Amino acid sequence: MSVSTVLRRKITLRNYASVEQDKVLSSHLELHRLLSNAALHERIDAWAKKKISITYNQQQNMLPALKKDMPELAELGSQALQETLRRVDRSFQNFFRRCKAGQTPGFPRFKSFNRFDSFCYPSPAGWTYIPYPAKEGIKNARGGILRVGDLRLKVRGMSRFESFEPNDLTLKRISKAVIGKNGKVKTKAVWEASITLKLAPQDCVRDRTSNNIRGFDQGLTDRLVFDDGQTVENTRLLRNRLEELAGFQQKKARCKKGSRRFKELAKSLKDLHCKIKNQRKDELHKLSTHLAVTCEILATEELTIANMTKAPKAKPELDAKGVPTGHYLPNGAAAKAGLNREMLSSGMGMFLQMLSYKVEETGTKWHIAETRKLKPTQRCACCGLTVKKQLDERMHVCLHCGFCTSRDRNAALVCLIDALMPTFYMNVQKKKFVCDNGYLDFIKNRIAYANESFEDSDLRSEGSICAHNASAHGTGVVTGAAQETST
Ligand SMILES: [Zn+2]
Repeated sequence: MSVSTVLRRKITLRNYASVEQDKVLSSHLELHRLLSNAALHERIDAWAKKKISITYNQQQNMLPALKKDMPELAELGSQALQETLRRVDRSFQNFFRRCKAGQTPGFPRFKSFNRFDSFCYPSPAGWTYIPYPAKEGIKNARGGILRVGDLRLKVRGMSRFESFEPNDLTLKRISKAVIGKNGKVKTKAVWEASITLKLAPQDCVRDRTSNNIRGFDQGLTDRLVFDDGQTVENTRLLRNRLEELAGFQQKKARCKKGSRRFKELAKSLKDLHCKIKNQRKDELHKLSTHLAVTCEILATEELTIANMTKAPKAKPELDAKGVPTGHYLPNGAAAKAGLNREMLSSGMGMFLQMLSYKVEETGTKWHIAETRKLKPTQRCACCGLTVKKQLDERMHVCLHCGFCTSRDRNAALVCLIDALMPTFYMNVQKKKFVCDNGYLDFIKNRIAYANESFEDSDLRSEGSICAHNASAHGTGVVTGAAQETST
């Protein structure tokens, strides 16, 4: 990495605005919303009447004239206004891109108050952020002063960066339920400021506390399964609250649309989803930071979430001659939908994304195995040959070499071996092994330990606790290719 590289990191700060400040910010937001809707209307209208497509540049060039008619727009800053127009433009681009790709996207919407909650300053113009000076004994700055136009907002939030250059600011209105003096619950407007910072790589560095070498596989039964058999529990945040969510949804469906009760329930539903989202994010951040600071080498497989969570194909019923009858056979769509929901809610992709920038900061060697080439689930970690498995087979039993362990643990081992000795599995068929980088013994120990600890005890209870040290089992049985390599 060259010294001139600039890293971008986001910090999120919160402001509990006073009534006056909230009024000003809300009026800004409302003007952005009107502008957004007007821009959308102009595009739709021009196409409907004259079949003309309006571009972003055309709309942007009309801003100065618009500001003359509505002087209150000038207060918002031209860059912020342009960004709102760009958002409209992007929504059209995305719409047409997805149409081309054969998907069925929704047409860009007019935004109601509830659907439009943020505006953005795309450059450092129009606002400044000054963090509080660091206090002795407190490592991280816990907030600062954010000036937006004439407003002076106190913002809270942690940032571990000391010197940085702010790049852009997004202000988002979130409402928070608070208990008032009379004991009644009321919602209070809270503003969230996300600032993207430009940082020099040395300012992002995190210290690594230990030098573990680990491979892991992501799953649903356990969130993570490591090559040494340790697991991280999947907390199933969404599934645990499905009943609660369904309750709100059912009640909402019985209300008259647009009534006070309907809006209240919509709000409750939104809040609950938001809570789940925050919990998931918090959990994944903690876990990924922990892994990044404790590992020297981390290996896993790449995931294609979009492919993994596809709906199953319809199964048309055929008559005796093979002609479709117009009826359909059960294809397990409901079960797959539940599985997909679980996969998406566990945030597997988000987790990898978090890890990928954190390992950069700790200097951890990060290996993502190519799933299609390596097939970690189908491959035997010990001999390198493939052992086909169905999705519900939770164990790996190798017919070629007799290696037994849990399915996910085997996959984690395969990823780890691929990271340490990239040519190992490539050469299995040719019976030619080149591994002289000093990791061979380490890998043999891990494989032997996996085999042995599996024989020792019950698979599930063993997986969660792993007090043994892998090296203590170095003398275990190693069969197949791993042994051949040493000779
Ligand atoms: Zn094998």
